Amino acid sequence: MTTPTREVHLAARPIGWPTHDDFRLVETELPDPGPGQVLVRNTFLSVDPYMRGRMSDRKSYVPPFTLDAPLEGGAVGEVLASGEESVPVGATVLHQAGWRDHALLGAREVRVVDVSLVPASAYLGVLGMPGMTAYVGLTRIAPVQAGDVVFVSGAAGAVGSAAGQMARLLGAARVVGSAGSPEKVAWVTGELGFDAAFDYHDGPVSQLLRPHAPVDVYFDNVGGEHLEAAIGAMADFGRVAACGAIASYNDTDPSPGPRNMFQVVTKRITIRGFIVMDHGEVAGEFYRTAGGWLAEGRLGYQETVVDGLDHAVDAFLDLHKGANTGKMLVRL
Ligand code: NDP
Repeated sequence: MTTPTREVHLAARPIGWPTHDDFRLVETELPDPGPGQVLVRNTFLSVDPYMRGRMSDRKSYVPPFTLDAPLEGGAVGEVLASGEESVPVGATVLHQAGWRDHALLGAREVRVVDVSLVPASAYLGVLGMPGMTAYVGLTRIAPVQAGDVVFVSGAAGAVGSAAGQMARLLGAARVVGSAGSPEKVAWVTGELGFDAAFDYHDGPVSQLLRPHAPVDVYFDNVGGEHLEAAIGAMADFGRVAACGAIASYNDTDPSPGPRNMFQVVTKRITIRGFIVMDHGEVAGEFYRTAGGWLAEGRLGYQETVVDGLDHAVDAFLDLHKGANTGKMLVRL
């Protein structure tokens, strides 16, 4: 027997902002799983900013996506058929064969997740790669110390919303966020307990951040003007976890760096970039700690859900335009 299914392929490498023409929805069929394989019906797909980098043909920390082949990315789903005892039919699994309705995978390519306490989608967000990115950034890259003032950009996104709350849980005295709308500002200062936040459209970021200086730790999701403003607002010996630079991901030319780099010297600032997948050894600690915070109701999260594989590209494009609050997901 075969299972008819659909997958999203990369049809062309985007230049600047991707368009629908860069993607193609393809119908195909999958065979039944052989020994050691599982057939998964995906229930939630993750769309993430890093995928934009993989659409371009340039050397990076992950290889580019292949043209005319399905895109990849985090997904959770239900096992429909199994050739492997340890991954039974009905189990919920996390894997990297996203952007498709079904996936045929080796049992070693999936991880069975416990959905008795949290929904499966949480493993793509607060209890998944984005949550772990926040945790690694604040514990290993720019460790938060008791009494710190922490600034988080992209504060209402998947990583940023976790980072701001974790900063407080790790001992920060004050947490400040920036986000792209008044509603997002209200969410992070209300439900998530940030001490302050601003909408970065309301003026130059350097001016909006000034009342919150000096900043001890900056968790940078945005780069560009935000990074320059943060350097200007940093305390002596401040630390920056350089996590992302979404302000420039769709630029066609390299964007200029901060104009105030000499302040890195005068203030003795440490700026350290990181990629979460280099820190697999933190995973156990992350699941225990973040899982505990979640169970105790001390770590809140939100999801923006788009329905249907036909709208996965819309979800990905909208993510870059700030349409999401919390984690952007596609539900199948
Ligand atoms: P988000 O959920 O934060 O979604 C992206 C958000 O970026 C949008 O909602 C939008 O929110 C904001 N944004 C878009 N353009 C701009 C801009 N020009 N200036 C400021 N904000 C902008 O995504 P993630 O939480 O998944 O990722 C956040 C960052 O973390 C990204 O840079 C990503 O690449 C990085 N990352 C890094 C990892 C690592 O290992 N280093 C791992 C995972 C993510 P708004 O409305 O506020 O503008």
